[in-house]
Amino acid sequence: TFSPMTLFPVPAFSDNYIWVLHDGQRALAVDPGEATGVSSWLTQHGLSLDTILITHHHADHTGGVDALREATGARVIGPAFERMPEPLQRVSGGGHIEALGLRFEVLDVPGHTAGHIAFFTPDVDGQPLLFCGDTLFSAGCGRLFEGTPAQMLDSLTQLASLPHNTRVCCTHEYTLANLRFALAVEPGNAALVDHAGHCQQLRERNLPTLPSSIGLEKQINPFLRCREPAVAQAARGHDPATTSETVSVFATLREWKNVFK
Ligand code: ZN
Ligand code: FE
Repeated sequence: TFSPMTLFPVPAFSDNYIWVLHDGQRALAVDPGEATGVSSWLTQHGLSLDTILITHHHADHTGGVDALREATGARVIGPAFERMPEPLQRVSGGGHIEALGLRFEVLDVPGHTAGHIAFFTPDVDGQPLLFCGDTLFSAGCGRLFEGTPAQMLDSLTQLASLPHNTRVCCTHEYTLANLRFALAVEPGNAALVDHAGHCQQLRERNLPTLPSSIGLEKQINPFLRCREPAVAQAARGHDPATTSETVSVFATLREWKNVFK
């Protein structure tokens, strides 16, 4: 019998989401920075934790792994080249894993951290799905803690090439702050203005602005729009040393966002 998959963002800390995907019985959880919230959510819904996916080494993505592994026996899958809570299965770009009967491709997306990975599966009840950690946020992207602008731009370009209807599961509810910056970059982007109004309403009702989609992000996310003349011009307005190279536009946007209030 066919059982549809359910996707739910369990909130953690002040602005993290621990994404849970389940088939009504078995669940996978992504980047559990803490265990208590997600484990009581799973219990409430009568789910057993089958698999934990980890995108990168930061504590707000890994802090709950040991407790969840111990309590549930879930297997843990994470990046090949980062410090991780052992034991786990280590994977890297070009590899794939199976979980809940789904095949996930592993993508290397360095930039936020050096060994950051993402998980993509092409068909969850007819729609592709992406767990991208802190690489791509709605209307934004992760900070460059361990990577260069060129690496992050490559990683984001790889994600932008996924199908338009891919559901994008980002790990932080940063959307409103990102949209304020995006509007400073592209005040004339009608899709952006429209989406900002929509997200404002969602947050007033305390609802998540996620998942996003690749198609939407290509319309509203300045970090995916560095080739747009208006975005390049805004970057030059912030830093006249910005060249016509896409990576220079990207680097300026990332630095501008770091100081944007
Ligand atoms: Zn992080
Ligand atoms: Fe994070």
